Amino acid sequence: MKRLITLLVSTLLLAGLLTGCGETTAAPSAEGNQSSSKPAKTIKWKMVTTWPKNFPGLGTGAENLANKINTLSNNRLHVKVYGAGELVPALEIFDAVSRGTAQMGHGAAYYWKGKNPTFQFFSTVPFGLTAQEMNGWLYNGGGLELWQEAYSKHNLIPMPAGNMGVQMGGWFNKEIKGIDDLKGLKMRIPGLGGEVLNRAGGTPVNLPGGELFTAMQSGTIDATEWVGPYNDLAFGFHKVAKYYYYPGWHEPGTALEAIINKEALEALPKDLQAIVLEACKLANHEMLAEYTARNNDALQTLITKHKVQIRRFPDDVLSKLRSISDEVVKELAGKDAFSQKVFDSYSSYREKVLSWSEYSERAYLNVRADNK
Ligand code: CA
Repeated sequence: MKRLITLLVSTLLLAGLLTGCGETTAAPSAEGNQSSSKPAKTIKWKMVTTWPKNFPGLGTGAENLANKINTLSNNRLHVKVYGAGELVPALEIFDAVSRGTAQMGHGAAYYWKGKNPTFQFFSTVPFGLTAQEMNGWLYNGGGLELWQEAYSKHNLIPMPAGNMGVQMGGWFNKEIKGIDDLKGLKMRIPGLGGEVLNRAGGTPVNLPGGELFTAMQSGTIDATEWVGPYNDLAFGFHKVAKYYYYPGWHEPGTALEAIINKEALEALPKDLQAIVLEACKLANHEMLAEYTARNNDALQTLITKHKVQIRRFPDDVLSKLRSISDEVVKELAGKDAFSQKVFDSYSSYREKVLSWSEYSERAYLNVRADNK
């Protein structure tokens, strides 16, 4: 955290130094009592999101990002957040920011697989990277450059802006004892996980979070995954489903995204551009910390207060899903040259990080579990 703040401060200082000479008097002085100085001019941005307004963790994560930009810029740039459906429907934010209806958006890349299936690598891959590993690939392993290249055709700049860690496997009203229990199952599961369910004989459905409770209650869908205890408790899925399965094989560390309209960003002074991009990094870091803390209490509430029955997917089901996932991901790579480039980057990083994780995270977690 300290390193992030130091980086942010130094970036801002550098941006200020580089652009300082050309700044107009509209900008507040860097000296004196900045907190009470009123900026002469405020640039107003809209941020549209795929989440309900202020939904715990996700909607509040988007608010957190907007607040950071507003505070760090001393309100020279003011971002206002719109929940799903307020300005545009949840699954139309990509197009809205692309065409400039809003300057920013907050969502997840796998929602846009209809535009290009390769985008899904930038959110999550079944049996793929954890949150920590994903951040490594994006920031330091070439992932973000590829993501920015992928979105540039759509006039967008993506930034990682949140992660929830390993998700839960979802809510079911029947037990999953073998792979055949997935046959005919109509389940809300986005991204590549949805394609895996499809090949296992189920019917994947892509619905925004805000519609899931009603869809479960009315029987439009038989099962749903959402996120994990913190978010699932907030939606009340324990009222409409009996069994809560783990692990979230389909979403081991989904990167959420901030999408920024390219022209809107480039029209900002350099220091405000830096604030927008660095605020995304802070928001990304803070969301993971929040989920790591909040999921624990919510899980206990689900088990002790709501008597939710927790189930683990059987090993043979996970093993079958794993082999289907490998097929699905490889096919995606063969689609075109760019998809192959993304797949190669992701796969070579994944191979190396899995090897290191054996000696680090996994070895440590095993030892800790054995010596409670
Ligand atoms: Ca999910």
